[in-house]
Amino acid sequence: MNSGKESPGFSRGRGFNRKHPQWTVFRMLLDMKLNYKEDKEGKASWNCDCTLSGTREILEFMAMDIEKSIKYMESNGGYCDCEVMMNVVQEAMSVVQED
Ligand SMILES: [Zn+2]
Repeated sequence: MNSGKESPGFSRGRGFNRKHPQWTVFRMLLDMKLNYKEDKEGKASWNCDCTLSGTREILEFMAMDIEKSIKYMESNGGYCDCEVMMNVVQEAMSVVQED
């Protein structure tokens, strides 16, 4: 019997980089974590505790190599969950979309 624990489509134990195909999944999950919203005056707010705890949780869920991915996030200016979203994920996706 198969344990069935592998999620199809996720390559286990790999770190993120600019070309990674799962950025959309990662962004969706991080988006839910951050819960970004704007009030009537256009003032933005989101849930970020200034750590990478949400990022780590998602990486674990996606069976990514956490330390490798975190290193990539940090070297691209993502030192907390909201910075990962703004500096890393959106950058990476704008690169991927150029084709
Ligand atoms: Zn933050």
